Amino acid sequence: MVSFIGIGIGIGIFSSSYKLEASNSQLLLISGGPLAVNWFNDFYKHIADSPLSHWLEVLPAQIASWQKEQQHGDFTKWIKLLSKLPEITPSSINLQNKVEFGHASDISEYAQKQVVGLLKQFMPWRKGPFHLFGIHIDTEWRSDWKWDRVQPHIQPLKNRYVLDVGCGSGYHMWRMLGEEAKMVVGADPSQLFLMQFQAMKHFNTDSRIHLLPVGVEQLPELKAFDTVFSMGVLYHRRSPIDFLYQLKNQLRKGGELVLETLVVEGNETTVLMPGERYAQMRNVWYLPSTAALTLWMQRVGFKNIRVVDVAPTSLEEQRATQWMDGQSLSDFLDPNDQSKTIEGYPAPLRAVLVAEC
Ligand code: SAH
Repeated sequence: MVSFIGIGIGIGIFSSSYKLEASNSQLLLISGGPLAVNWFNDFYKHIADSPLSHWLEVLPAQIASWQKEQQHGDFTKWIKLLSKLPEITPSSINLQNKVEFGHASDISEYAQKQVVGLLKQFMPWRKGPFHLFGIHIDTEWRSDWKWDRVQPHIQPLKNRYVLDVGCGSGYHMWRMLGEEAKMVVGADPSQLFLMQFQAMKHFNTDSRIHLLPVGVEQLPELKAFDTVFSMGVLYHRRSPIDFLYQLKNQLRKGGELVLETLVVEGNETTVLMPGERYAQMRNVWYLPSTAALTLWMQRVGFKNIRVVDVAPTSLEEQRATQWMDGQSLSDFLDPNDQSKTIEGYPAPLRAVLVAEC
């Protein structure tokens, strides 16, 4: 818990940056600055009196500079689109076996078409699926299948503070909330994913779930979360050992890490570093075997490390849809041998590891 002075400083920074943004000419009003600020102000209030309160020492300044420097050319357009979403309260929320807000009967046919039209402008939708008033946002990934591989093996999330590093559009965060986590925080620098998350949050304003547009490298050593997830991120990190330390530094003693990443077959000495591309992705650095990854985690100080699932990614789990109409896994594999990527590496194989801090 941060001292009273600490909270004062934290809130002081955020309120002064808010005033700065709000009074900083019409431009920011037009660009939707204050609206975006509000997403994070809510978060600051919610953590002020929680084990995460130390975050207030750095986060408001990081977010303020993100708001000034955010570069994405479509940001203003996205904020405007979000503001056009109709105000409809879903008659039901299901986060247990899917992410579903409301039913078709909650909404007129006209409004449903309007929502589809608005949401399609946030394409590509990669992580999901989401069900919203009878609309099925059929995403590139069946992220629910990943959750089904992960969920049976983890500590129950009930009443826990949970962090999801590299959370994408937040699909798994909603499922974590469905497991009655006390608070779910996602960290992901992708602005499009943030918009997709906020589009869903528009219809379910639950104050226990928040996505912050910050990278893992910006997180202070909070040592406060009960569970930290990082799924589909480690192979994108140039320094995977530092990344494991960063994840560990978010956990309280005895907390749980849930790590999901691409792996290769092999023993403690096997790690694949692909050339410029792996399955067409440019930013892939290290694909360890589960034995090598276990060793890395031991070296970083994790305990009770278990490999709880290993599964190849199927063409049904990652594919083009009406909500992501670009190339997908089938285009990234060797057309004559689907056990290999188009570059000749082993096809994607994913492992889930859990460990204790
Ligand atoms: N966890 C989700 C999404 C994985 S995709 C899932 O398992 O389906 C990898 C994500 O890592 C992307 O959303 C990307 O924006 C995010 N990412 C990239 N660099 C990051 C960084 N420095 N810190 C945190 N997340 C990052």
